[in-house]
Amino acid sequence: MLVLYYFFGVVLMKLLEERIKKDGIVLDGGVLKVGSFLNHQMDVPFLDKLADEFYRLFKESGITKVLTVEASGIGIAALTALKFGVPMVFAKKSKSSNIGSDCYSAAVRSFTHGNTNNVIVEKQFLSTSDRILLIDDFLANGEALKGLIKLVSDAGATLVGSGIVIEKGFQGGGDELRKAGYRIESLAKIKSMHPLGGIDFE
Ligand code: 5GP
Repeated sequence: MLVLYYFFGVVLMKLLEERIKKDGIVLDGGVLKVGSFLNHQMDVPFLDKLADEFYRLFKESGITKVLTVEASGIGIAALTALKFGVPMVFAKKSKSSNIGSDCYSAAVRSFTHGNTNNVIVEKQFLSTSDRILLIDDFLANGEALKGLIKLVSDAGATLVGSGIVIEKGFQGGGDELRKAGYRIESLAKIKSMHPLGGIDFE
């Protein structure tokens, strides 16, 4: 039974790699567009299977809340939260740098937009008794995850780990965080990609 369970995980990761190769568009500057199934149009039945895999990976961890950052991680984070039967919270981008005392906040530099946003979560939605799973669509330099890690730490909650749909391994953010001791599970890890030369996985 255990072997079968693991086997489904491996098959799913292969399916995800195939889907990225088929539908992904590699842009100059190291950006991958997967808007046809992940973060613009969403293939919900397919994302539901990815959420099953996050559940399989973290089901023993006593998760009480799933946390992501606005906006493109919200879909997969919501599906994942449904599997665990827990709420999903997304850190909101705040235009104001003048954050009230009722919010936790972190500065996050956006890889895709090149700007820095303050992201905030109201204190009432994270507590010291929470065991948090971070979910995001992409992991590149690790800025978004570092911001979320700060929010969890400021709240005194327990960070269990992170589930990522697509990690761009060549940008190094994931391995830096793993070295620092964080558990990061990426369903697809890209070794290299080029606008004309295709996509290779680790
Ligand atoms: P990081 O903070 O790790 O550098 O980047 C992660 C965040 O940037 C994700 O939340 C994601 O929204 C966005 N991102 C980074 N790289 C890509 C990419 O290649 N394609 C897309 N669509 N989003 C990306």
